[in-house]
Amino acid sequence: MNKFVMANDQDISNCKVTDVYFEKTEKFLRKLSVNPKVTMEITAPSTDYKFINFTGLNDVISLLKGKNVNLYSIPEGTLLKNRDMNGVPVPFIRIEGNYLDFAEFETPILGFICQASGISSYSSMIKKVLGEIPFISFGIRRMHPAISPMIDRSSYIGGASGVSGVLSGEILGIEPSGTMPHALSLILGDDQAWKIQYENSKFRVFLIDTYMDEKFAAIKAADEFPDVDYIRLDTPSSRRGNFANIIREIRWELNLRNHQNVRIMVSGGIKIEDLPELVEAGVSSFGIGTSIASAKTVDFGMDIVNVDGNDITKRGKFSGIKNVLRCNQCYKLNVVPHTVSHKVCECGGSMENILTQYIKNGNVIIKEDISEIRNRSISQIGNILNL
Ligand SMILES: [Zn+2]
Repeated sequence: MNKFVMANDQDISNCKVTDVYFEKTEKFLRKLSVNPKVTMEITAPSTDYKFINFTGLNDVISLLKGKNVNLYSIPEGTLLKNRDMNGVPVPFIRIEGNYLDFAEFETPILGFICQASGISSYSSMIKKVLGEIPFISFGIRRMHPAISPMIDRSSYIGGASGVSGVLSGEILGIEPSGTMPHALSLILGDDQAWKIQYENSKFRVFLIDTYMDEKFAAIKAADEFPDVDYIRLDTPSSRRGNFANIIREIRWELNLRNHQNVRIMVSGGIKIEDLPELVEAGVSSFGIGTSIASAKTVDFGMDIVNVDGNDITKRGKFSGIKNVLRCNQCYKLNVVPHTVSHKVCECGGSMENILTQYIKNGNVIIKEDISEIRNRSISQIGNILNL
């Protein structure tokens, strides 16, 4: 038994986390000695996201590695719409193999990509609004701790400049980012807390709203430590009134005293719709937690599209094995039968297949590191999210 109410690595690998109807189906098919070669595709015909930043494939690959399957996928960190230029749902993943070799894995496969892609898509929407203004993923405390590295990884690929989780930092190979908790000021008092933070941090951020009014605390902090990097406001909602106006006032008072270099960071319940006004008011950095960590999942579904060479699928889905062509100039998508791998776009650009093979007969043939995936994502946010 696990100590906590959760599945561990082994439970997921052994597929104890599947839905029971797959277990039953497998039993029935084995009894009848039926195990056809099938192709399954994963699509998201309906979603609230205008663009999906696709992530979570890393865990799908770990799950299917060593199974006798072929796996093709849209690369992680690719931004794309859920349907192509003709409204056909885009297959994000294609899996080929004998049905019983992977049937039960449908539940965890979808779980890996639905939640991760939701978080990375939301994070990219924030990145699009903020541009070069940094934001740190602060939300792991709002979710089950077992998935904190997944939350931070997805936020980071989506565009977060840093993550707060220690284990996340280890897994991603980046230094975790953090400021100081209210607890430090409550235990030491502001003066001593700021001093120790100042003397021991590479990146000096003072939390200034534990005891005092934000404006007077900001002035005091900047007067005493003129080269502090940031003052951070985590003002409780009961005190907020007009948060943007509080920021404007602080920015004014700091500038008046020649503290233009002291920048303002804010955190606490920040949502995407709050960002433009806060930026305009003078915020230079954000800590964003719950709204990213609890981003709506992408409703991916997995369906058979071919059985033993025959194109077949359920009502409401598109049968046959497909490729996903994307124009290298205008990013237009065109879902086509898998026999077609390139086309010339109406715009004159070249449309190439972006469904890439990652697993061949159980062997992983492409491995990507996090910086490669994140760079792909960031480079597309400016171009694609404008479409
Ligand atoms: Zn084009």
